[in-house]
Order: sequence, then structure tokens, then C-alpha cells
Amino acid sequence: MIEIRALTKYFGSSLVLDRVDLDVARHEVVCLIGASGSGKSTLLRCINRLIEPDWGEIRIDGRTVTDPGWGRTGLQQRVGIVFQSYNLFPHMRVIDNITLAPRKVLRQSRAQAEEQALETLALFGMERFARAYPEQLSGGQQQRVALARALAGQPEVLLLDEVTAALDPELVGEVMEAIRSLKARGLTMVIVTHEMGFARDLADRVCFLDGGRIVEEAAPAQLFNAPEHPRTRQFLERLL
Ligand code: ATP
Ligand code: MG
Repeated sequence: MIEIRALTKYFGSSLVLDRVDLDVARHEVVCLIGASGSGKSTLLRCINRLIEPDWGEIRIDGRTVTDPGWGRTGLQQRVGIVFQSYNLFPHMRVIDNITLAPRKVLRQSRAQAEEQALETLALFGMERFARAYPEQLSGGQQQRVALARALAGQPEVLLLDEVTAALDPELVGEVMEAIRSLKARGLTMVIVTHEMGFARDLADRVCFLDGGRIVEEAAPAQLFNAPEHPRTRQFLERLL
């Protein structure tokens, strides 16, 4: 579904993505791991062109979305993203946070948008907070609202950048559970995470980035139990 070829990105003179190739199949969950600064966020943000790559190609369903002719807005509708900082609109209730984009962008009626929002909230065990304001929610609850908001745009792919990193440890589980339920529904996801347990549990495939390159990719059992590349081994040993 997603084909990335020779993706290259410089910030100034520093090479941050070095000819990255990556394929993601429909319904697949791919986790990106690697040390801080290895280029995980940059790679993720290039996929929906929050960052414009300098070189290389990204195709989604065979269409080259890195062509200048491809509108970014259309791409960002098909490829949703959620960050560590959930950035909900503080003055809007949960339900309005979620229904804003579908009403404005997808031109859904309020009733239709709200029905779908409540469905997604229910999937995450959050239905009862629909009328609450973000500040009345815990971090884990706010992050689940942010996930619901990203889903409301009906993306075909969801990109997640360390969505549990800002949470207290006891809140991490409920957000992971929400993501697990999205996998069960067949959503295609690319997930940057520092939680190796999460990657092991959820990923169909794990990619280890080092210095802007994917130096190893494998099924989680393979990558975590028998890493082949010395850099992967080093990285995993340091985590223990
Ligand atoms: P972390 O695990 O800390 O989030 P990461 O793997 O996500 O790290 P990136 O954020 O992709 O790493 O950054 C890769 C490199 O690019 C780093 O050296 C970073 O300093 C640099 N970088 C990222 N964004 C910018 C930017 N907007 N301008 C300049 N340099 C940047
Ligand atoms: Mg990052």
C-alpha cells in the first residue's frame, strides 16, 4: 500500500534520512525503533509530507504522492498522524474536537459526524467523556481522544509518533489497548515507539533505524530475540 524508495532528507548539511526504502502492506502494522536522532520522526512526517523530502519517492496505492502535483491536503486526509503531545483544542468539548474535521472537510452532517465520533469513543471506552473538556481528562484519556480525532477523518493509514511517551506509566496501557483495537480492525499503521514491549506485541514487522537508514527489519520475534546487525544488538542491549 505504501512504497518508499530512496527517501532522502537533509536538515542543513546533515543527512537525516539516507535513501530509505520501506514497504507497508494494507492492514500491516510496522513499528520504527532506534536511538534518539536516528530519523524516526522525520521518516514518519515525510510519509504525509508534514516534512518535504529532498529526494526519493513515496507511492500510496501506486500513486506517487511526492509529486509536486499531489496536494498535501488530500494526502493528509488519507494518512492521519498523532503525536506525543495530543494538541486538543482546549476550548472545545471532546465531541467537537473529534467532529470538527469531518464536518468541515468531509462535509458530514453534525448528526452523522457525532454518531461516528461516539462509536470511536466507545471503541476506546471513552463514550462517557464526549461532553467533557480536554482539561477535565487524564493524559491517557486525552490521547485516546486525539486518536479518535485522527480516525474521524477516515484515514487509510495512521501514523503514530511516540503517542505514549508523555504519559504516566499507569496510563500507557489504556492507550496501547486503544491502538490494539485499531489493529484488530485492520487499520494500516506505522508506529514510532520507545516501548519495545509494545512493538513486540503489536507489530507485524519492526524496522530498526540507525543514522537515517533502516539497517534491519524483521518480524518482532526475530528482531528482538535474534538481531543480526551489530547496531541493532547494541541498541537492544543498552535497553536492558
Ligand atoms: P527521537 O527518538 O529523539 O524522537 P528521532 O529518531 O525521531 O529521535 P528525528 O526527530 O527524526 O529523530 O531527528 C533526526 C535528526 O534530524 C536529529 O539529528 C535532529 O536533530 C534533526 N532534526 C529533526 N528535525 C529538524 C529540523 N526541523 N531542523 C533541523 N534538524 C532537525
Ligand atoms: Mg522522534
